[in-house]
Amino acid sequence: MSRASRVTLLGAVNEVTGSCTLVDTQDARVLVDLGLAQGVNQAGTRNLALPDIDLRWLDAVAVTHAHVDHCGRLPMLVPHGWRGPVFCSEPTADLLRLILPASARLQRTQLAEWTTRKERGIEVPDAPPPVLYGQPEVDALLDMLVPLRPDETASVGTMTIGLQSAGHILGASSVVLDTPSTRIVCSGDLGRRDAPPIPDPTPCPPCDAVVMECTKGGDVDAQSTEPVQGLRALLARAQLRGGPVIMPSFALGRTQQVLFALREIAGRGELPMSVYLDSALAARATAIHAHWPDGLHSEAAHGLDDPLHFDGLFMLRSRRASKRIDALGGPAVIMAGNGFGQGGPILRHLARWLPDPDATIALTGYCMPGTLVGHLETDPPFVLIDGKRVDVHATIDVLDCFGGHADGPALTQWATAQAADATIILNHGEAESRASLAAHLQAKGCTVCRPALGDPVEI
Ligand SMILES: [Zn+2]
Repeated sequence: MSRASRVTLLGAVNEVTGSCTLVDTQDARVLVDLGLAQGVNQAGTRNLALPDIDLRWLDAVAVTHAHVDHCGRLPMLVPHGWRGPVFCSEPTADLLRLILPASARLQRTQLAEWTTRKERGIEVPDAPPPVLYGQPEVDALLDMLVPLRPDETASVGTMTIGLQSAGHILGASSVVLDTPSTRIVCSGDLGRRDAPPIPDPTPCPPCDAVVMECTKGGDVDAQSTEPVQGLRALLARAQLRGGPVIMPSFALGRTQQVLFALREIAGRGELPMSVYLDSALAARATAIHAHWPDGLHSEAAHGLDDPLHFDGLFMLRSRRASKRIDALGGPAVIMAGNGFGQGGPILRHLARWLPDPDATIALTGYCMPGTLVGHLETDPPFVLIDGKRVDVHATIDVLDCFGGHADGPALTQWATAQAADATIILNHGEAESRASLAAHLQAKGCTVCRPALGDPVEI
């Protein structure tokens, strides 16, 4: 009798970071994603331990996309002697060559900052932020990448591995694992429909089991306006105040969505101020988008030399260039990392402009509770930046028109259009979102599992 296939969630259980799923069939064992845990919940120290699996019998890794909560621990496999292969889409491979070295640098920087703050008597967490790997481990991991074209599959024993568009960010893919007897799909993060420059997600194909993210499983998007309209209105409000717009942005995903909308506004001759992208990482990630027009939404892919560039956009790629805009006085948009305000040049810009009543702080994405941006969303009288009190007199303007994740109805539609008979295993969502989407799917007659961390589901 043949052994059943098993799916085991090894991360992102009742939370939205640290994705890692083991698919164990009689044909092959594949790990899908190995991401960093992020946020305030002891994430740093939790990242130190790899999932408890014997890497000697792991046949392959597949990466859904290049956000660090899905790929950020991959180089940790190297010191354990694992030698690949690591399958991903072609754009994801390009982005990993950018993101993983940046992740290694960031870990070193965070440790140096922690040490400096401790020496200066500024309050810091008890445990120093861990350095999980260095550039040699990153280089070895990047050598293992096997990029797959959209129509290409790879074989691991008698299993085939294929990818299909998940929307979300450039190159993001759902992983389709086929054995002679079973098909298992891992959704990765699923994006919204009609959210250029990112393409729409492809519905889940017929399968036996699907591991589906549910970041926004309990939500129905309350998108009050579309991105170009929403952003144009925000710029008009900011222009009346007279000061700059400070926009905390993640380098990969939200930055490109905002640039695409700004490009549209600029194309109509309606951009009222210059735009400064103060992030070398975001500038390079943006350039990679132009290399993969087939990986973009049709609105962005056709007839545009560079879908994310426009007159009035200035990419700042050095600290010196970043410092020069400290002297800006009038209207301008300053986009900088990172999106949660946990580090990078955005801290300097926020410290400079939060006390100014003429300035606007534009929040365009998920504001994780416990982070600086999470505090700002509540419009507090003051915040602490680098241990110093900074009064908040700027206007906090929250935009709900951008999003990188499908909401509950869209997730349901994605899963049930062709795969309503599959066992649906929910991961990558807070407990509430997971329960809410499970109830919704069960009401439609679906079989839904919400396994605990490390508990295998037999297929
Ligand atoms: Zn993601």
